[in-house]
Amino acid sequence: MEKEIRRVAVIGTGTLGTQIAILAAFFGYEVSAYDTDEGSFGRVKQNLKDSMKASRRKPVVPIEEWENAANRVKFSNDLKEVLQHADLIIEAVPEDLELKREVFERLDALAPRGAILATNSSSIPISKIESATTRPEQCLNIHFYSPAMGLNMVDIMGGTRTKAETIEAGKAWIRSIGCVPLMVKKEILGFCFNRVWRAIKRETLYMWAEGFVDFRDIDRAWMIFSKMPQGPFGLMDAVGLDVVYDIEMVYYRESKDTKDHPPEALKAMVDRKELGIKTNKGFYTYPDPEYSRPDFLKG
Ligand code: NAD
Repeated sequence: MEKEIRRVAVIGTGTLGTQIAILAAFFGYEVSAYDTDEGSFGRVKQNLKDSMKASRRKPVVPIEEWENAANRVKFSNDLKEVLQHADLIIEAVPEDLELKREVFERLDALAPRGAILATNSSSIPISKIESATTRPEQCLNIHFYSPAMGLNMVDIMGGTRTKAETIEAGKAWIRSIGCVPLMVKKEILGFCFNRVWRAIKRETLYMWAEGFVDFRDIDRAWMIFSKMPQGPFGLMDAVGLDVVYDIEMVYYRESKDTKDHPPEALKAMVDRKELGIKTNKGFYTYPDPEYSRPDFLKG
C-alpha cells in the first residue's frame, strides 16, 4: 500500500526549494523548511513574487495566495525539528554531488524511518546519492521545473532499489499539488522534459553558430508554431547563457561526442558577459527585447 503523505520538509530554500515549500503549503500540506542561510526563504519568496508579477505565465499558486501560503511554511534553523514528523523530505541544496550525499546522510540519520527522501537535482540521478542512506528503497528524484512560472510538470525517477510504492506515493503527491508527474522509467540525464528542451537548444545553437539561419527567424518560427511569448533564444537569455553553456558541457562530458559540444560562439558571448536578461544583453537586448515588440512576428 502506498504511503500517505501529510507532512513535507524542504531542505534548502533557494530558488526552487522556496517554490516547492509554498506550493505544498498552498495545497494543504504541513510544511517545514530548513536552510543554512536563515534569510534565504524570505528573500527568495519576495524575489519570486516580483518575477511572477512580471511574467505573462499563470503561476501554479495564484499571486494573491502566495503570501498566505508562504506564512504557513514553518521555517526553522533546527534541522532535527524540521524533520521530526516529515513523511516526505525534498532536498533542494546546490547542485554538488558531495554536498547532496552529505545532506542525505544527515537526513537519513534524523528523519523518521518511514520518510521518503527526494532530491530536486536537475542532473544528478538518485542512484549516485542513495548509498549515502540506509533506505535506498525510499529514495527518488522528484524534479520540479518552475511552478512559480506556471510550469506544473515534475519529473519522477527511481534509483537502483526504489520500491514501486515509493514511486506511487511520489506520483500521487505530485498530482495532489496541481502538477503532472512525468515518469522516467529508466535513468537518463535530463529526465523527461529537460532532455527534450536540450535537443531543441543543441539544434538551434548549431543552426545559429554555423550561420544557417538568423536566431530571430528560429524564434519567430517557434513562436508561431507554439504560440509561446519567446522562442528558444529568448528562453536561453532568460535562463542565463552561462548556465546554458554549463549544462551543454554536462551533456558533452557524458557523451564525449563532439556534436554535443556547445558552439565556441556561445562561449565567446559568455566570456563577453553577454549572459542574457541578467546582464541586459544576450541574443537580445533588455529590458525591451525585439521579440516583445508587436511587429516582431511580421519578420
Ligand atoms: P539556490 O542556490 O537558489 O538555493 C540553494 C539553497 O540551498 C540556498 O538557499 C543555500 O543557502 C542552501 N544550502 C546550501 N547548503 C545547504 C545545506 N547544507 N543545508 C541546507 N541548505 C543549504 O539553488 P536552486 O536554483 O534552488 O537549486 C537547488 C537545486 O534544485 C539544485 O539541485 C538544482 O539543480 C535544482 N533545480 C534548480 C532549478 C532552477 O531553475 N534554479 C530548476 C530545477 C531544479
